[in-house]
Amino acid sequence: MMKKVVIVGGVAGGASCAARLRRLDESTEIVLLERGEYVSYANCGLPYYVGGVIPDRAALLLETPERMHKRFGIDVRVRNEALRIDRSRKVVTVRGASGEEYEEPYDVLVIASGSSPLRPGIPGIDSPRVMTLWTVPDADRLRGMIQERRAQSAAIVGGGFIGLEMAENLHAAGLDVSLIEALDQVMAPLDYEMAQVLHGELLRNGVSLHLGDGVQSFREEGDGVEVALASGTKVKADCVVLSIGVRPNGALAKEAGLEMNPRGGIVTDAHRRTSDPNVYAVGDVAEVEDFVLGGRTMAPLAGPANRQGRVAADNIQGMDSVYEGTQGTFVAKVFGLAAAATGVNERTLTARGMVRGKDYESVILTQHSHAKYYPGHSMLFLKLLFSLDGRKIYGAQAVGKAGADKRIDVLATVMRLGGGVEALKRLELAYAPPYASPKDIVNMAGFAAGNILSGLASFSEWDAIEKSRDAIVLDVREDWERKAAPVPGVAEIVLGSLRDRMGELDPNKEVIILCAIGSRAHTAARILVQHGFRNVKIYPGGASFYHATHSPTP
Ligand code: FAD
Repeated sequence: MMKKVVIVGGVAGGASCAARLRRLDESTEIVLLERGEYVSYANCGLPYYVGGVIPDRAALLLETPERMHKRFGIDVRVRNEALRIDRSRKVVTVRGASGEEYEEPYDVLVIASGSSPLRPGIPGIDSPRVMTLWTVPDADRLRGMIQERRAQSAAIVGGGFIGLEMAENLHAAGLDVSLIEALDQVMAPLDYEMAQVLHGELLRNGVSLHLGDGVQSFREEGDGVEVALASGTKVKADCVVLSIGVRPNGALAKEAGLEMNPRGGIVTDAHRRTSDPNVYAVGDVAEVEDFVLGGRTMAPLAGPANRQGRVAADNIQGMDSVYEGTQGTFVAKVFGLAAAATGVNERTLTARGMVRGKDYESVILTQHSHAKYYPGHSMLFLKLLFSLDGRKIYGAQAVGKAGADKRIDVLATVMRLGGGVEALKRLELAYAPPYASPKDIVNMAGFAAGNILSGLASFSEWDAIEKSRDAIVLDVREDWERKAAPVPGVAEIVLGSLRDRMGELDPNKEVIILCAIGSRAHTAARILVQHGFRNVKIYPGGASFYHATHSPTP
């Protein structure tokens, strides 16, 4: 029997669901309701359009209602807002493009209404100069602010991935950029030390960084806005971009009596069904299984929204398709760097009461993005979190000019397929000098993690050099390397002389060994341990990580 599916929301999850529904069945009647002007547009590309990197606005509009109708036979209705759902009668009340209300019956309903940027009740937030970036019209307004109203400066509130992308793009458009973040770091999915690398990049690019400082008020002043911070600092800018997080657009579902979670997300099962078997929910508005730690979570990301749309369509068309959860894999461009991560970070593990050394271990590595002797290489920093039996990878984070995305994708894949530390050691990855190293940093992470688990290696904290008062910090780099990039207050014995000169060191003291990236430190540590030194640690990521993480914060 022919069925009718009504979808609320016509971008990532909704449009994917509609297209898959049609590919699976020619006879299903599909109505796509979108309250905005556009369907299936590239919201992830909006920051780059604002910055002029994507000059052609039309490039963002991936589909038009007409084309979706022609290609997929979908009844696409833009400027049509779903107002209410009557589940007992299986109808949606809709406000149409000209303001009239009508009822749309369904056999199956898919809610893909997404999320909206937070706008908390901060005094002055209603100023038209305090903007958000979520839709194409938002991007048009911001472009207008730059091109027509000649904005010279912007204050970005929130250092998540949209805030950081906006910092880069507004800087590219010639504006002076201030970035305000209430936490002591940007990009919360990264651990603090990994975020330090981004802080350095922001400062190098002239972004004025205000960390650990919340906004108290906005006040219009002349042609701009004065942003008052908790510290008393006042930031003046021609416009403000607010990017402090999102909330799910769950009101429609809540009013319809569907089961909701405390964060306002729609409760769903693995088939993307809600508490009503005739109603599905996908994307930002719906909760998902936390793939790494179990339990339920909200994960507003484009890839998961698209895949959930497909899973819902499969199930609607009678297939048995399961969405196995979200692990939060992401990548973001921050000026010349890429920051990428998958799974959970160390902060999340410790917030759950897990203790490093007792419940999990972590390692930080530095490697060149490809063979050091081939031109154009850059430094890549990788952090890996894993269980003490080595069977589970909790998460990974990578920051670097090149190759961060590739390594995180490999690690995300290993995690998805249930691999652990052993799998990382065994991975055979593509290698040629312009692209990688024969022992890729992902393999190296497996080797280092394996050495930790088998007691062959121990790593210090990333801030151990300044914090460990009683330890000997030993630099085993060559003289020229130390002169080029000194690390203050360290003992110096080059690796080649260590066997002859180890008598200068007290074997009963903690020794933290540092080299350029970590591999010579590992060799040195093995020498000292085998000569009776009791407490030897490798400084993680070497002097490269030390320099990338120290003193970049204002
Ligand atoms: P959306 O794609 O937001 O679609 C929901 C649609 O539902 C909206 O168009 C809305 O107008 C419509 N709607 C809501 N209520 C109703 C109603 N009552 N009636 C009719 N229509 C309704 N994610 C990444 O993974 N990587 C990135 O690089 C990335 N960059 C981003 C950059 C920006 C600027 C933005 C805004 C988001 C970015 N995201 C990124 C997040 C990603 O776009 C979202 O997670 C994804 O679009 C969610 O898909 P969705 O279908 O749940 O919601």
